[in-house]
Amino acid sequence: MARPERRLAGIAVSPGVAIGPMFFAAEPQAEVVRQKIQAADITAEASRLEAAILQSRKQLQKLRARLGILPEDSQAEIAPLLDAYLQMVGNSRMVRGARRRVNEGLVSAETAVLDETEAIAEAILAPDEGDMPGRRRRADEVREIGRRLIRNLTRTPFRSFAALPPGAVLVAEALRPSDAALLDPSRLAGVATDEGGADGHTAVMLRALGVPAVLGAAGLSEAGQPGDVVVVDGSAGTVVVSPSPATLAAARRAVTAFTRERQKLAKLRRLPAVTQDEEAVELQANLEIPAELPLIAQSGASGIGLLRSEFLFMNRESLPDEDEQLDTYRGVIEAMQGDPVTIRVLDWGGEKEIEALQSEGLVPEVADTNPALGLRGIRLLLRETALFETQLAAILRAGAFGPVRVLLPMVTTVAEVRAAREVYERVARRLRRRGERLGEQLPPLGIMIETPGAALSADALALEADFFAIGTNDLTMYTLAVDRGESDVAHLYDPLHPAVLRLVQFATEAALRMRMPVSVCGEMAANPKLTGLLMGLGLRSFSMNASAVPRVKLAVRGTTIDECVRFARRVMDQSDPAAIREMVMGAPAG
Ligand code: PEP
Ligand code: MG
Repeated sequence: MARPERRLAGIAVSPGVAIGPMFFAAEPQAEVVRQKIQAADITAEASRLEAAILQSRKQLQKLRARLGILPEDSQAEIAPLLDAYLQMVGNSRMVRGARRRVNEGLVSAETAVLDETEAIAEAILAPDEGDMPGRRRRADEVREIGRRLIRNLTRTPFRSFAALPPGAVLVAEALRPSDAALLDPSRLAGVATDEGGADGHTAVMLRALGVPAVLGAAGLSEAGQPGDVVVVDGSAGTVVVSPSPATLAAARRAVTAFTRERQKLAKLRRLPAVTQDEEAVELQANLEIPAELPLIAQSGASGIGLLRSEFLFMNRESLPDEDEQLDTYRGVIEAMQGDPVTIRVLDWGGEKEIEALQSEGLVPEVADTNPALGLRGIRLLLRETALFETQLAAILRAGAFGPVRVLLPMVTTVAEVRAAREVYERVARRLRRRGERLGEQLPPLGIMIETPGAALSADALALEADFFAIGTNDLTMYTLAVDRGESDVAHLYDPLHPAVLRLVQFATEAALRMRMPVSVCGEMAANPKLTGLLMGLGLRSFSMNASAVPRVKLAVRGTTIDECVRFARRVMDQSDPAAIREMVMGAPAG
């Protein structure tokens, strides 16, 4: 009998509709090499096991807590399963057995978990009679918990996408930015997860890849089986598991309509981004991984306004050296054929984990309790200057192949900009001594305005930096104290909050007074409903995911500066976020 459809609500993060079989990102087994340990290592191994148990418990508690938003019948089905998992990562027979194996059997924590879960699963399945389906289910549950523990022990991210069948919808509890960086958009229909926020880096990455995606759909990974058909509506923010024939037919119509709309927008590519009163606006693309270059070429973007260089450091054992970085930057610069490329130096921290930095001992093994407020961005680079110098050297050398700019992330003080400029000039001198030919003037050195501290000292920072790029994603997060990647507080994450808009205005005016270039490169830049407001605040340069360029161009071409200024004045007179949302989005807040 066909299963009834299940409709789950999540956060719309990347537009478009996808239909395909569910593929669970957690399916592949983490690799376990069975290992003995020395008696001297027992304590360390036991504490690794305890940390993995704790982490697994936290993950499951989080999934369990979010079930409240599901309809009651779905809750009734999914909650008992999560409860059973939670019980198993408590003081269960399995946990006690694994501890014993480490302490007495002298094996690694992974080996202990693997052996213990297998032994229990086999014991459950051993008798030859009675409720075989029920026992199989229980054995699977034990193995599933074993896999979770091992994934946490080996820090195996949900990254094994090799078996992803073409046209599938990738489903995961959570997807890290470094996992998203491994996705091949041409093989994938869509993505849906239980957790995640609207402007977290995973969301940013999925939008960049043009993959329809919904994040934060509570209960999703327990709502279906691998292979079940699923419809992901990345515009409406819904996921339907086992859709009815009527839902499926409507989804197919939506896919066709979306494709037509894209074709229509593609025609804008060659038209200039000018307002009706002939004011030119710069529309550039953000780049997260080189796989986006063809999309950028099709979009009509005039350069790259933000190259997030983290991809170069992710999913690898060791750090890229100067030549390897140079090759990558050169490839991007040459592909842009003379259009400028703004390369942001490494922005480690927040949700962006980079194993190679951990294994080389440059950042703590275990994330800080509050990584968004820790050693993020420029703070790490000024401490680990060798890392910074290598990257700056590669960028400076890449400048020989086309126009570049250098962008510093997470700046909060003038002293950081001065210190960074000193390093920059030192690297340039060293390169010149080495015989590298750098132009007489070094490429501009600019800063992200993405903390309230930077925005409010923009007048002082404007004396030190060559340009500003306003990062509204972090600016919103830090201003409102709302994690941008967290589903539970996603409703509070609001770039249209007057506090955020006032900071954008203050920073923009500080730059314009100095006649210094200023752009917006956070997700606000990609929303055509906000284009008029931002232009009214004085902004003329925006950098966004490539697929947003045509829509924003349409907004630019449909307005006049006068209209934008008047609208911005009315918006900035408001202090009520709901009223602003209604004015800008044309709909009440909700
Ligand atoms: C931002 O914070 O708005 C930004 C553009 O940087 P990232 O999204 O990479 O943190
Ligand atoms: Mg940022």
